[in-house]
Amino acid sequence: MENLRFKALETLSKNSEDVKVASPTKITSVFGENVFTLDVARAFLSDEAYKSLAASVKTGKKIERALGNQIAFGIRAWAESKGVTHYTHWFQPLTGTTSEKHDSFFTIKGDGTPIEQFEGEALIQQEPDASSFPNGGLRATFEARGYTAWDPTSPAFILESGLGKTLCIPTIFVSYTGESLDTKTPLLRSIEALNKHGVAVAQYFDRNISKITATLGWEQEYFLIDAGLANARPDILLTGRTVFGHNSAKNQQLEDHYFGSIPDRIYNFMRDFEKESYKLGIPLRTRHNEVAPAQFECAPIFEEANLAVDHNMLLMDVMNKVARKHNLKVLFHEKPFAGVNGSGKHNNWSLSTDTGVNLLAPGKTPKTNLMFLTFFVNIIKAVHDYADLLRASIASAGNDYRLGANEAPPAIISIFIGKYLTEVLNEIKSRVGDNFTEQDEILLKLDIHKNIPELLLDNTDRNRTSPFAFTGNKFEFRAVGSTANCAIPITVINTIMADTLKKFKEQVDGLIDGGEKKEVAIMEVIKQYIVASEKVLFEGDGYSEEWHKEAERRGLPNIPQTPKALDAYVTETAKSLFETNGIYNHAELEARHEIMLEEYIKKVQIESRILGELCTSHILPPAIKYQNILLQNIKGLKELDLDIETYNNQKNILKKISLHISEASALVESMIEARKKANKITDSREKAIAYAETIKAAFFDKIRYHVDKLELLVDDQFWVLPKYREMLFIR
Ligand code: ADP
Ligand code: MG
Repeated sequence: MENLRFKALETLSKNSEDVKVASPTKITSVFGENVFTLDVARAFLSDEAYKSLAASVKTGKKIERALGNQIAFGIRAWAESKGVTHYTHWFQPLTGTTSEKHDSFFTIKGDGTPIEQFEGEALIQQEPDASSFPNGGLRATFEARGYTAWDPTSPAFILESGLGKTLCIPTIFVSYTGESLDTKTPLLRSIEALNKHGVAVAQYFDRNISKITATLGWEQEYFLIDAGLANARPDILLTGRTVFGHNSAKNQQLEDHYFGSIPDRIYNFMRDFEKESYKLGIPLRTRHNEVAPAQFECAPIFEEANLAVDHNMLLMDVMNKVARKHNLKVLFHEKPFAGVNGSGKHNNWSLSTDTGVNLLAPGKTPKTNLMFLTFFVNIIKAVHDYADLLRASIASAGNDYRLGANEAPPAIISIFIGKYLTEVLNEIKSRVGDNFTEQDEILLKLDIHKNIPELLLDNTDRNRTSPFAFTGNKFEFRAVGSTANCAIPITVINTIMADTLKKFKEQVDGLIDGGEKKEVAIMEVIKQYIVASEKVLFEGDGYSEEWHKEAERRGLPNIPQTPKALDAYVTETAKSLFETNGIYNHAELEARHEIMLEEYIKKVQIESRILGELCTSHILPPAIKYQNILLQNIKGLKELDLDIETYNNQKNILKKISLHISEASALVESMIEARKKANKITDSREKAIAYAETIKAAFFDKIRYHVDKLELLVDDQFWVLPKYREMLFIR
């Protein structure tokens, strides 16, 4: 059979005839056309049903059953008007992806009449056979039922594919006994906890505030390569990353890709997936090249966190589907290629009130600035107290390859706040004390607003090496991996913030009860929090070796590998945090921990298998073929009695090749032995650690070293796997 690599390279030139994409002239003309928004609902529902739905959307309360049928009827009418025949409950199980089980509207009545029907029951709640979703032991296999229930804070939408259109109802997924089996349930609970404790604190400053929502704006990084080339790389197909591949002579050193002009084929793809995203109401705004060749980014306008999470999950799905049409492959993996930058998904997070205020934006008056400072310092304290948990929330096999590499934030959690705010905090620290009164100048002035230009300058030219940076009116959690479901880190941020605000309120109230003036009490606790959490603030270069040493001196945790990073989820502190705030009970937490460990083990196991298999079946055969050619050549020259100089070079190459072949295959054998040993371990945590240390760390790079050397030595015509230069530079 012809070598797939060359076939792919050949067809690539044909691909340059791009799929033609007609862009809407105006985004607003298609935006949200496939979403059952409240505006649409008004047209399709009775007044009564509309009111009930609107109330549920606002409060997150379940739809009243009595009105379920009416609402379902309206949704079906709308969906059918758009050519939909099937519906599904769309949910986010703990597999890291989204799930759908399609059912048709079609049914047969008792008397045999075929009809189309969609009942309230089907809209509001379903019981998918959920036994094959990860549950970490929460559901014994005999109790295979879980149920999905509509979460009306995220609207129904229509997914289009070449094959048809499906009505999707965003749902939560819980076990029959009520434990969450998905990422959305805890997220919604954390949003609620944050709302509750956030409002209580915000009311110190403004009695009109009755609701606080977490906002999220993600930035999605990804690689895009030709699908033919991707198909010729079994490692990419199975793991999303290349386990082998020598650096291309040119990669990102010229820095000519970042923000450069977007190649036509890519541009066409972008317009296409953007169009599909707009229809789904995903408010994409930005697109550009990223640092590495073939790396790109897109970002939307921020939204309420629950919706933003759904939109990100949908976007990844849409991108994968649209890419197929363009003969491209999207790589969301955190580190698809060694030697060039990896991909992240920055999570921009803030808090907004129902009075329209962004609580992390400095205000215009002393009073609003005190409110800003309160929330600002509370999140610093939260991150300080629960840094290990924040680290755990972004832990994954993929992200381990990226964190701490020299282009990504380290696994050490620290916060960047900028020079100006550092000064403000220092001033509070030195001024607030024994004789501090409500007449104190710092309180009366809190002149942050005067210095906003300075602040913005400071924080937009911000430190990009920080994992958690204040960027003027929001925090940017930069350590999140590009494949991640943002619900996981955002659940943690919301929860630790909720918990910290709760304690803050208790302390301030205590001081007030003791006779202190409200403002003074608030400043007093703010000061305590600044002092208590100072060590998590860091303004320097997070990528540097010095920071690693400094962080160690400060006692900040630095856990580079997932299996141990996940421990933070099951400490006594974490259990009580999640339980008291109603996010996870102990069983749910243990189950999640178990699932994450299992996922880690499986991912590394798959990598290890494909690495071994590729080495034996894709790398060694061409290497041996070339080895034989060299051998014949040397023999021939020798037989002719020619000088040693005539074949010395070949002999050297032959020696090297032979060495790498034997080293690589010996290492693969030992790795298999190590795997057999690890597979016997029954405790998940221990097994995961064994996979990290005795398999991944012990073998992956070593085997790769020999394989990548072979790539440089072996005749290019024999090499089967597409090379880095081909995947990264051919468009
Ligand atoms: P960059 O990080 O590339 O400089 P921006 O700071 O303008 O870009 O925005 C990055 C992301 O932050 C966008 O997705 C944007 O919607 C989001 N964002 C802006 N304001 C907020 C906010 N208040 N809450 C959450 N996300 C926000
Ligand atoms: Mg950014």
